[in-house]
Amino acid sequence: MKLGIITSGGDAPGMNAAIVAAARYARSRGIEMFGYVGGYRGVIEHKTVDLAKTSFRGALGRGGTLLYTDRCEEFLLREYRLQAYDNLRSDGVEGLVAVGGDGTFRGARDFFADTGLPIACVPATIDNDLGYTEFTIGFDTALNNVVNAVEAIKDTAESHGKVSFVEVMGRKCGNIALHSGVASGADFILVPERPFDFEELSKKAVEKLEAGHHSIIFIVAEGVGKVSEMSVRFKELTGITPRETSLGFIQRGGNPTYADRMLGVRMGATAVDLLAGGCGAVAVGVRGGEIFDTDLAGALGIPSDIDQTLYDLAPGIV
Ligand code: ADP
Repeated sequence: MKLGIITSGGDAPGMNAAIVAAARYARSRGIEMFGYVGGYRGVIEHKTVDLAKTSFRGALGRGGTLLYTDRCEEFLLREYRLQAYDNLRSDGVEGLVAVGGDGTFRGARDFFADTGLPIACVPATIDNDLGYTEFTIGFDTALNNVVNAVEAIKDTAESHGKVSFVEVMGRKCGNIALHSGVASGADFILVPERPFDFEELSKKAVEKLEAGHHSIIFIVAEGVGKVSEMSVRFKELTGITPRETSLGFIQRGGNPTYADRMLGVRMGATAVDLLAGGCGAVAVGVRGGEIFDTDLAGALGIPSDIDQTLYDLAPGIV
């Protein structure tokens, strides 16, 4: 048997663990594996790497993705998906492992509908915005990056008695903001999934300062808006000039944590197992520490939301 693997969409630390584990596990089962370089674009443009001949020394624990990744508008068109299928078939590939986020999953669903080629999707995105799985690969590493950065900001904010707005990634999802905000003891956490009254929160921030807090940290999910605009509004409301930091791509980089490596390894190997067992279009997930698989279309139908239990606890603990 021969399988293909891609990493697609936004990169996430731990993607390499999934690639390495999938390739090694496939090899141990006598399955050949081809990597396609740069996501769906690499399949369309027929850019391959024979993973049987690739050395993975040191790769498992590195951030980024050794197969590279890209966004590919063409893959939204059926004619290019059929081109991709022809390339895979000409290589003798009988199933594809697609490692990526919700866009990658939607592409996989359409690809399967067009071609019937078995496809196993592995969730890898720092945003943790796929509703069917408790965690995605890369989320834990991004959180550690954010918590470390917020603590650095806090040190200097506390020394100078400053209010700081810190913008974190997540696209439309507030999971990075919520989890990092709780873990770093931020004063206020703003997420797009729940309404908030900015005027009221600004008033509360001033009250906290008057009550003796020397600094205030707002963690703002990017889906809520720009911290640059929020800072201006805060100054208008309170007369206080805040600091603003957009953490940017630093959140996505660095070596993956143990949790993300383990998730990558377990999910990568599971995807190979599923394809070897004759699956259709499936998504691999994790819940309560257990890896599971589910129908891809069904997985995409489950909306993403923040962790409500954590959100309810947050006002009491941050
Ligand atoms: P992520 O996988 O991280 O969510 P994107 O949303 O950019 O990243 O999606 C990755 C790629 O998946 C896109 O560049 C495109 O090639 C493909 N894709 C996304 N949505 C679709 C779709 N509806 N149909 C076909 N392909 C899609």
